[in-house]
Amino acid sequence: MTERKHYDAAIIGLGTMGSFAAVELARRGFSVAGFDRFAPPHGHGSHSGGTRIYRIAYPEGTGYVELAQRAGELWDEAAERFGAQLLHRVGMLYMGPPGEPFLQSVQDSATFNRLELEALSAGEVFRRYPAFVIPESYSGLFDPKAGWLDVDAAIRSSQSQATALGVDCFLDQPVKGWDATADHVCLQLEDGTVTAQSLVITAGAWAGKLLNDLPLPLTVRRKVIAWFDPVNTELFGADRIPVFTFPENFIYGFPNMPGMGVKMAENWGGVDLMDADRPVAAPDASDLDPIRAIEKR
Ligand SMILES: Cc1cc2nc3c(=O)[nH]c(=O)nc-3n(C[C@H](O)[C@H](O)[C@H](O)COP(=O)(O)OP(=O)(O)OC[C@H]3O[C@@H](n4cnc5c(N)ncnc54)[C@H](O)[C@@H]3O)c2cc1C
Repeated sequence: MTERKHYDAAIIGLGTMGSFAAVELARRGFSVAGFDRFAPPHGHGSHSGGTRIYRIAYPEGTGYVELAQRAGELWDEAAERFGAQLLHRVGMLYMGPPGEPFLQSVQDSATFNRLELEALSAGEVFRRYPAFVIPESYSGLFDPKAGWLDVDAAIRSSQSQATALGVDCFLDQPVKGWDATADHVCLQLEDGTVTAQSLVITAGAWAGKLLNDLPLPLTVRRKVIAWFDPVNTELFGADRIPVFTFPENFIYGFPNMPGMGVKMAENWGGVDLMDADRPVAAPDASDLDPIRAIEKR
């Protein structure tokens, strides 16, 4: 980077949050430079893995429900502007023994927030979705407004929208550090510096390093995602099943994506790492066995 340009805002990290922050700042007329150490979407970030669940009933906290509803409107608006389908509202099916604490907390969140969920018996689950053969004692709770997000499409289209709006996106360009004076911030790059009036740090798992003078309780956690090839691809097709969950460590899964398979993972659990630059252990039986146990049911 030979030319030293001054921007209204600089963004460190052009993943999920940073690529959309770039679009929103540019739409408001600011000059923006965005930097990423890789070229998102990539396999090293919090966004990696192609898809994410969009939930509305939120047992983790009632405050999330309104935010999730607003997020849904914003996903739809972004999709229209980008001309890409981002949020697939295929619904979400929670399965488990009736009264199981997680299932109950989803129902409680729905009741508290006046969201309509559909209660299904094991037989009804099977008749509607033959892919799911669950024990007779289990039941299903269906949230018709939930679904999944196409993460790669979201990041790709927000980045190209940002570029079209004049954002300078610097990919494969790690920011080594930054400092602030009274009237601007200065970013250190591998081959120079860039200055801006304001700085947005959306560095995901690396945020702790860039914010190390703030006492933020940030930890980096290793998470394992697995893809399975269904024996009957049709039964697991994107138009046949919703996003689904089982209560064991909140195991979740997505419809079959052609060429990828059925993605499944555990929402809870995982090992904390010292930082995001340490080598990450390859998945082993202790990661995969709990997911396989559900897949084999
Ligand atoms: C396994 C898993 C499953 C999840 N499931 C869901 C879900 O179902 N639903 C849901 O809503 N959320 C889910 N989340 C959370 C969601 O994916 C994240 O909240 C979101 O992707 C975070 O985006 P981000 O922009 O903070 O991070 P990222 O998308 O990782 O972006 C950070 C970017 O910063 C860049 N960067 C870092 N340091 C530097 C530097 N020094 N210089 C330049 N660039 C740098 C990185 O390369 C990266 O591209 C999940 C997360 C994980 C890990």
